[in-house]
Amino acid sequence: MNKKLFALFGNPVSHSKSPLLHNALYRELSIDACYTRYLLEDGRALREKLFSLGLCGANVTVPFKEDAYSACDELDMFAKDIGAVNTIVTKNEKLYGYNTDAPGFIASLGHFSYKSALILGAGGTARAIAFALRDSGIEPLVANRSKSRLGFFLERGFATAVFDELKPAEYDIVINTTSAGLADELLPLPMEPLVELFNGAKLAYDCIYRETPFLRLAKEMRIDRKGGIDMLIWQAFFAFEIFVDTKIDKKYIEVMKSAAN
Ligand code: NDP
Repeated sequence: MNKKLFALFGNPVSHSKSPLLHNALYRELSIDACYTRYLLEDGRALREKLFSLGLCGANVTVPFKEDAYSACDELDMFAKDIGAVNTIVTKNEKLYGYNTDAPGFIASLGHFSYKSALILGAGGTARAIAFALRDSGIEPLVANRSKSRLGFFLERGFATAVFDELKPAEYDIVINTTSAGLADELLPLPMEPLVELFNGAKLAYDCIYRETPFLRLAKEMRIDRKGGIDMLIWQAFFAFEIFVDTKIDKKYIEVMKSAAN
């Protein structure tokens, strides 16, 4: 049988750890497959590329997750809710779309007893996390610096606020899904309200992979912290299971963790 081929589509893609994570696990499990990356210029070409490159499946990253959603013939529950797809499988001329960012976020928390959550930011990642939390029995408050992106959440019954309306309250988890701190030294919120929020928090979670000002502030305040790398690895693990159409023992997450370092 021919080697199975998978790829990551995005723009940019050269920095991505996904090939390392997937190929390490193919090797470990002696699966005859290979995972590469593909720089896509136009999201509308996604469907045609998947078939013309002979791919069995693909991951899709920024800025094409919504194009991937539109390209698919069938969608899983999270992909439907969120309106974005990060994992696609090709079968019988059809595209099956999934969103593994949502279960990836929950898995990255491990066993938890959190009861409340505040999501800062209202983009694609916030959508995945909001539905993931709802699926786990937590109704988050979604807060953003501007109003327009909050409409999506309001329409789906989530509590929302712009930052200026945020009232001091206790949230077990405060999650930064904004891009503040990604390529700058900004906090998502001014220092004062963020300190108030951290005062009542059990965990500060940043979806960004590096140590951000948000995480540094949490460290100074001695609050438990988590960065985005575990979410990245878990979404890759769940995508892997979809690609090979088999449940994999969770102990193999360690293979991906070592590959990421
Ligand atoms: P989007 O572009 O969809 O959304 C960005 C959000 O950040 C918006 O709510 C925007 O607010 C807000 N924002 C941007 N700059 C600032 C700022 N300076 N201060 C306050 N708010 C700001 O991005 P994504 O949701 O796709 O990605 C968000 C972050 O999550 C990125 O840093 C990305 O690297 C990370 N990520 C991590 C993943 C993981 O696996 N760990 C997976 C995917 C993403 P407004 O609406 O007002 O513009």
